[in-house]
Amino acid sequence: MRLSTFFLHTLKEEPRDAEVISHKLMIRSGMIKKLASGIYSYLPYGLKALKKIEAIIREEMDAAGAQEVLMPAVQPSEIWKESGRWDVYGKELLRLQDRKGAEFVIGPTHEEVVTSIVRDEVHSYRDLPVNLYQIQTKFRDEIRPRFGVMRSREFIMKDAYSFDIDDQGAEKSYEAMYRAYERIFTRCGLKFRTVEADSGPIGGNFSHEFMVLAETGEDVILTCTSCDYAANLEKAEIAAPESLALPEAPQGSPEKVHTPNVRTIEEVCSFLGVKPQNLVKTMIYTTENGVVAALVRGDHEVNEAKLRRAAGCETLELADEATIEKYTGAPRGFAGPIGLSIRTIADYGLLGSGACVTGANEEDYHLRNVWLSRDARIDAIADIRNAEEGDPCPRCREGSLQAIRGIEVGHIFKLGTKYSKTMNANFLDVNGNLKPIVMGCYGIGVSRVLAAAIEQYADENGIVFPVPIAPFKVLVLPVSTSEEKVMDAALALYDELGSQGVETLIDDRDMRPGVKFMDADLIGVPFRITVGMRGLNEGIVEVKERSTGTVEKVPVQEVVGYCLAKLDL
Ligand code: ATP
Ligand code: MG
Repeated sequence: MRLSTFFLHTLKEEPRDAEVISHKLMIRSGMIKKLASGIYSYLPYGLKALKKIEAIIREEMDAAGAQEVLMPAVQPSEIWKESGRWDVYGKELLRLQDRKGAEFVIGPTHEEVVTSIVRDEVHSYRDLPVNLYQIQTKFRDEIRPRFGVMRSREFIMKDAYSFDIDDQGAEKSYEAMYRAYERIFTRCGLKFRTVEADSGPIGGNFSHEFMVLAETGEDVILTCTSCDYAANLEKAEIAAPESLALPEAPQGSPEKVHTPNVRTIEEVCSFLGVKPQNLVKTMIYTTENGVVAALVRGDHEVNEAKLRRAAGCETLELADEATIEKYTGAPRGFAGPIGLSIRTIADYGLLGSGACVTGANEEDYHLRNVWLSRDARIDAIADIRNAEEGDPCPRCREGSLQAIRGIEVGHIFKLGTKYSKTMNANFLDVNGNLKPIVMGCYGIGVSRVLAAAIEQYADENGIVFPVPIAPFKVLVLPVSTSEEKVMDAALALYDELGSQGVETLIDDRDMRPGVKFMDADLIGVPFRITVGMRGLNEGIVEVKERSTGTVEKVPVQEVVGYCLAKLDL
């Protein structure tokens, strides 16, 4: 491709609304263009990169036995009502009406559509297993679209769905996808970690996320310093204690102290001169089964996914001011477990607590010298807090947890019979019994993979594409377009590389070399061949490797072979 005719418009200035480097660079390198909040066009350079990733995904999905389909973006509300998600999906689901007033959604995911297809086509165990996938545009009305295509409203996802006759089969399908995902992200040239993830209200331990490691990632991953345990923050467990008995209390009773306008942990600590770990934080939540109080140490954070599991509920939300007043008798900031008549779940972290401070369930008052075993009624003690750096590993118990950040590029899930039961996707087993199909679903954020790759490798000068997903592998850069000898040599190299199957770009624009060098770094082509008069007179060109910055002088005759070897072609 000749840069003089390529629809590539680079920008010097940083876009004002971009917070992370991949977003800045994708805009500056002319890969994407914003149309509206969270909605982007892919311009030729961006689309070429995206297609590289798609090609790797297709090859690996096909190799794993999945079959490609293409399902519609617009889906009728009926199937969402059947699955029950019409009422629970919330505001991320974009709903619309056609001219007749019939309701539709723009698909944020395709479990309903694929289940409706398979239930019609599959009747017998002989038709199973089957795995269908697509690469298709999704829409989620994200509350805070940001970071460009990393968290956009319209984005491209590879979604796959497996259908099996039983759990054992479903586990095999899951395993095949797990391996395929490892190969996909490895082949994309990414540094990633696979982590155990929370499977939400669906339950079960079958969910993994694939995280591209990047300091700017939105997700926190906890990894063990000595074994290979890794989990996301939502899931990371705390090692179960040996005993669930709260320490025995001495005789005595809590002491009420006046704490006017002292509400936050920091305020209480400094007012009473205590440490956060000697405080009990009481958080009130509403669930579909009523109100729940969660108790954690003052220096810990409640983990809502864990609390949901411990409370055995599906929906869980922090209670509003009125609910807090109703159940504690005091405004926010003064809740405590003593005298509460709602279900109370305490965290493992409190098992070591002796005398502590809690809210008094009375405005402007706290209690000191509280012993939970003596003064409070605790219904359950469970793991309900976020794991933190330094916590002992729940798996090997020898190492400790370290926190690193990542970008979730893939998520695999064992669905069980959640959709097949609600949507009647059944089959006849060997004995002629009607059974629900056992499902799995597997997503990759294709556009997010591209952004994550840029985020992981970019430097201060621009994008550094991993070779496998680079739209062009080599950029030929004639220093001057007006010198015939230089242009002839550059074009000859360009043609030769092309005929050897190397995707090559030539910067044949009549521009200052400085601008061309800057653009070359910005767009991140892995190898740059600089062709100049001085070098040609000695029969050499310069090859710069973008990822290492190393520059080598290579004889003109040998440079094509040199590139082929470097690119492993
Ligand atoms: P997140 O927690 O980041 O919102 P999710 O759990 O909602 O992701 P899934 O429903 O598992 O995501 O979707 C599968 C994949 O699609 C994710 O792993 C991610 O790579 C990608 N993805 C999800 N939401 C977006 C988005 N708004 N923009 C770009 N990619 C997305
Ligand atoms: Mg999401």
